[in-house]
Amino acid sequence: EAKIIDGKQIAASVRADVAAEVARLQKEHGLKPGLAVVLVGEDPASKVYVANKAKQTVEVGMNSWEHRLPAETSEADVLAVVDKLNNDPACHGILVQLPLPKHINAEKVLNSINPDKDVDGFHPVNVGRLWVGERALVPCTPTGSVILAKSVLPSLSGLDAVVIGRSNIVGKPVAALLLRENCSVTIAHSRTKNIEDVVKRADLVVAAVGIPEMVKASWIKPGATIIDVGINRVPSENGKTKLVGDVAYEECAKVAGAITPVPGGVGPMTIACLLRNAAQAAAMIAGVKSAFA
Ligand code: NAD
Repeated sequence: EAKIIDGKQIAASVRADVAAEVARLQKEHGLKPGLAVVLVGEDPASKVYVANKAKQTVEVGMNSWEHRLPAETSEADVLAVVDKLNNDPACHGILVQLPLPKHINAEKVLNSINPDKDVDGFHPVNVGRLWVGERALVPCTPTGSVILAKSVLPSLSGLDAVVIGRSNIVGKPVAALLLRENCSVTIAHSRTKNIEDVVKRADLVVAAVGIPEMVKASWIKPGATIIDVGINRVPSENGKTKLVGDVAYEECAKVAGAITPVPGGVGPMTIACLLRNAAQAAAMIAGVKSAFA
C-alpha cells in the first residue's frame, strides 16, 4: 500500500518557509514583498481562487492588492493596470487571473507583465530562463509537484520520469524541472503510442491531463511515485459531485510506492508556491539574496 503524500501539510510548511523569508527580508533589508492580483469579470471559481490568494498572501506577511475590473473592461484598460503595477516599486509580483473575457487577448496581457514580476512564470522570458537553467520565476503547480516528489524521493537523479500532458502551464514546465533534477524525462500526450507501456517504465509519474482516473494500476511500475495534478469534477453516488484526479487512486495506491490524493495533494501547493515566487521576486528585484533561488 502506497505512502500517501500529504499536500496540505507540505503546503503549510512551504508557507511557513515563506513567512520566515518575508520576516528576514523585512528585518535585513527593510523589504516587504507585495503581490497584486488582477481579476477581470465575474467567473465564480476565479473569485474564490483570488480571495484565497489574498488571504494567504496577508497571512505570510506580504502586502496584497486585488484589482477587480468589470467583465466589459477593455484590453487597453487591463494593459494600463498591468503597466501601472510594472512601474509600482511596492509591487513585486503581478498575477493576472485566467481565464480573461474573450474580447481580451490573454497572451498579449501576460506578455506585458515585467518578467521579473511574473509570479506565474508564464512569460516567454521566464520559460526561456527555466530551460536554459538561469534563475527564473517558475510556474507554481509544477514547482509544487516537484516539491511533493522530493518529499518521498531523496534524490530524483537518474530516475525515469514520465510526465503525461504537455501544456505550457503544467506538463512542459514539470518536464523542465525534472530534467534539472537529472531525471530521464519522457513527455507523453494525446498522440503518444502505447501510453500504458511508456508510463509503466516510470519510477516517477506526473499526470496532468484533465481526464478523470485515466491512469490505471496496470500502467504503474510497482513502487513508483505518482504525482496527480488533475482536478476533475465528476458525478458522485449521492447525486452531488466530487473531485477526482487523472489517476485511478484506489487501485494505483495498491501498486505505487507513494501517491498524492485528490483533493489534498498538488492542489494546496499551488498558492503556497505562488507566495514563494512573490518572495523570490521581491529579493531578486531588490538585488539581495533569496532563500528560494
Ligand atoms: P490542458 O488541457 O492544457 O493539457 C492537457 C494535456 O493532456 C495536453 O497536453 C494533452 O496533450 C494531454 N492529453 C489529452 N488527452 C490525452 C490522452 N488521452 N492521453 C494522454 N495525454 C492526453 O490541461 P492543464 O492545464 O495542463 O491541466 C491538466 C489537469 O491539471 C487538469 O485536470 C487541471 O484541472 C489540473 N490542474 C491543476 C492545478 C492545481 O493543482 N492547482 C493547476 C493547473 C491544472
